[in-house]
Amino acid sequence: MPKKIAIVEDEAELASLLEYNLRRSGYEPKVFPGVKGTLKGLEQYKPDLVLLDVMLPEMDGFELCRQIRQSTAVGRIPILFLTARADEVDRVLGLEIGGDDYMTKPFSPRELVARVKAHLRRGDMDTDQGVVEIGPFRLDQGARRVFQAERELELTSTEFNLLEFFLTHPGRAHSRDQLLESVWGAQRYVTPRTVDVHVRRLRERIEKEPENPRYITTVRGFGYRFEEEAASGPEQ
Ligand code: CA
Repeated sequence: MPKKIAIVEDEAELASLLEYNLRRSGYEPKVFPGVKGTLKGLEQYKPDLVLLDVMLPEMDGFELCRQIRQSTAVGRIPILFLTARADEVDRVLGLEIGGDDYMTKPFSPRELVARVKAHLRRGDMDTDQGVVEIGPFRLDQGARRVFQAERELELTSTEFNLLEFFLTHPGRAHSRDQLLESVWGAQRYVTPRTVDVHVRRLRERIEKEPENPRYITTVRGFGYRFEEEAASGPEQ
């Protein structure tokens, strides 16, 4: 079954260029021009990944992203933003928006296809693995679900991958570059700042006091560590 990619983009020329290149690479792309009803269209199409333009004619790509994240049908799908402005990157990846990744226009279709492939491969690798339990966390790699003290966490694809990496490699300090390599893999365009943004987002989801984290601590001047002992100790 070819993977379905939704292209939410109003620039017809760019949309059909992406459509052409994705189809040629074995995907099943569908263009949504970013007008009213797009969310409904996405819920019906159920794509495996969404390419989302920031500037759309009848809606704001950020607002649409928020709506997608709230949807039960498509809420966890990886969202890759297409943005014309480098200074939008922090917002795109920020807590309040919830994108997984971004590409700054102009980009080559080849680069985009490589990025899409990396995101989808990441999802595939997890399909026949086990269940990891540390302290209050129980992560099911096959079902891609994670629970904290019996409560299911609503994580985006990247947040899940990051938490999965921490839970399967606890107690060790990981540099930002190691995390990039292990969690983002082939996406070599991602910068170490991306790691910081996603760690911050993950802390907001799992820490009681995100500013004073108990589970994912900062290793100054190096990176991050998942505190196995703190996690296995009594709940605070
Ligand atoms: Ca646009």
